[in-house]
Amino acid sequence: MAGKNYSRREFVKQNSLAGLGAAVAVGLTPTLVANCATDTGAPAILGGHKIHTGEWPVWPQWNPATDEEQLLKAIRSGVWSRAGIVTEFEKKYAATIGAKRCLALVNGTNALIASMVQLGIGGGDEVLVPPYTFIASTVAILQTGAMPVFVDTDPQTFQIDHNKIEAKITPRTRAIMPVHILGLPADMPKIMTIARKHNLLVVEDACQAWLAEIDGKKMGTFGNAGCFSFSNPKNIPIGEGGAIVSDDEEFMDRCYSYHNYGNPYGTVIGEVGSGTLLAGTKLRMTEYQAAIGLAMLKRLEEQTVIRNKNAAYLSSQIKKIPGILPYKLNDKVTRASFHLFPFRYKKEEFKDLPRRDFLRALDAEGIPCSSGYTPLNKMPYIKNVMQTKNFKLMYPSEMLDYNKYLERNQCPANDQLCEEAVWFAQNMLLAEKSDMDDIAAAIERIHKNAEKIKGNK
Ligand SMILES: *Cc1c(COP(=O)(O)O)cnc(C)c1O
Repeated sequence: MAGKNYSRREFVKQNSLAGLGAAVAVGLTPTLVANCATDTGAPAILGGHKIHTGEWPVWPQWNPATDEEQLLKAIRSGVWSRAGIVTEFEKKYAATIGAKRCLALVNGTNALIASMVQLGIGGGDEVLVPPYTFIASTVAILQTGAMPVFVDTDPQTFQIDHNKIEAKITPRTRAIMPVHILGLPADMPKIMTIARKHNLLVVEDACQAWLAEIDGKKMGTFGNAGCFSFSNPKNIPIGEGGAIVSDDEEFMDRCYSYHNYGNPYGTVIGEVGSGTLLAGTKLRMTEYQAAIGLAMLKRLEEQTVIRNKNAAYLSSQIKKIPGILPYKLNDKVTRASFHLFPFRYKKEEFKDLPRRDFLRALDAEGIPCSSGYTPLNKMPYIKNVMQTKNFKLMYPSEMLDYNKYLERNQCPANDQLCEEAVWFAQNMLLAEKSDMDDIAAAIERIHKNAEKIKGNK
């Protein structure tokens, strides 16, 4: 052990692991004793020892003892298409979110499409959406035939800037799609006030916001519909899966019918004997997916508490470092889901060390991290869809002028945010408090050595 250039943190860990209180007990060299005062360890990217040496919690989590019984029963029963287990999952999920109804389906993208189509959103309509989101939000809008119109992001909260919504409303605006991105709530009370004033529909993309809430009310229950995703990295992982929640019974009946070819369901019956009323599609969840979902749902509450606790602690530690600006929560947010933990990196405070190199240095310390989203308002998919047959039929040609569209959809605050953001994945927030200390220590070390790291390229 002696002779290795252990950092203070590694040193403390080694000692506590061995149950040793005093430095003398392991025969430390004078250099190591000196290292105890502050972290003078070399950055891992420059050949030093990395700060975080253990593993981060795996994702998804699977415990055969508690998770497999219902899944095996489902598989062995041979009833694999939608039946009782999917219904059970829907009931539990609706209760979890605090909505009257829930429809489980294949994924979050199609939850968004089905909701918008059944709310009557389509060709010729504009839907307001933030550019700081996953591509699924905007392609879902385009799939309905509607046009996404981008509202700039508030860089402090990473959410749609509600103060910039009204300026984007036109006679074509039909709906707002707030996205609770990263699992941090968009300001729904303010957004609902705007929506009511202008008679707009609201479809919440809550695909990252399970259990997040404002004033005790869950994300997904403010608008006309709330949409969720259960894909593998998500906080409720099923591989693939999604859900729509709403209190509107007729709307939910239509969504059900639509997700099952359009076959009659509930109030969607038409004249008796007249046959299928809706032109639907097929988006049904399977029984074994629902069995996995039920197992994952059991952990959600406890894990959400841990993520919130660790996020608050990590935020309080790293905000002391110059140039690190952690997320700010909107007013009255009582809980977030922290699908991701975001902060802004100001390279000016790091001797102009580019974000790319900051990320590499952090990764080398054993802290996996990401630069996050790139601007969705400027990608070629929009130009491409404007050239399709359907869009040419649905829109006047001036609306399909891509350069004019780009001009109208500039989001400068978002552009800058996309250059500055850094994320940690949700599973890291399930680790110990001491692991949060490691993250903070790693960032601090990079801050201290920014000049050297920058010069070493
Ligand atoms: C994951 C996600 C979706 C889409 O969900 P899928 O289940 O992958 O189709 C939509 N919006 C956001 C913000 C997401 O994170």
